[in-house]
Amino acid sequence: MASSKKAKKGEKDMLKKEFRKSSQSSIYTIDLTQIEGDGSFACPRCGTMISPDDESEEVYTIVDTKVVNDELLELVISCGTCRTMVRVTGFQQTVGLAGE
Ligand SMILES: [Zn+2]
Repeated sequence: MASSKKAKKGEKDMLKKEFRKSSQSSIYTIDLTQIEGDGSFACPRCGTMISPDDESEEVYTIVDTKVVNDELLELVISCGTCRTMVRVTGFQQTVGLAGE
């Protein structure tokens, strides 16, 4: 009968911590200048092949883009399989290397 002792202290703190973790450290960064080939890469988490050239949005969804001076600097995508957020950088360099 003395079960009205609901000490919920600490629960809030835990939630805060978890939210922080999931929103900050679960984003991966892929630098296209570090990748050989056509710029496609495997999802860091589930291994699904993601190609930035594939615009069908079946494999991934574009969440955010950063464009400066009409040039794509950064792309934030969400893996269609595991929903992992991946930040893709290094676009300009791949254009420069395309001729080789
Ligand atoms: Zn994935």
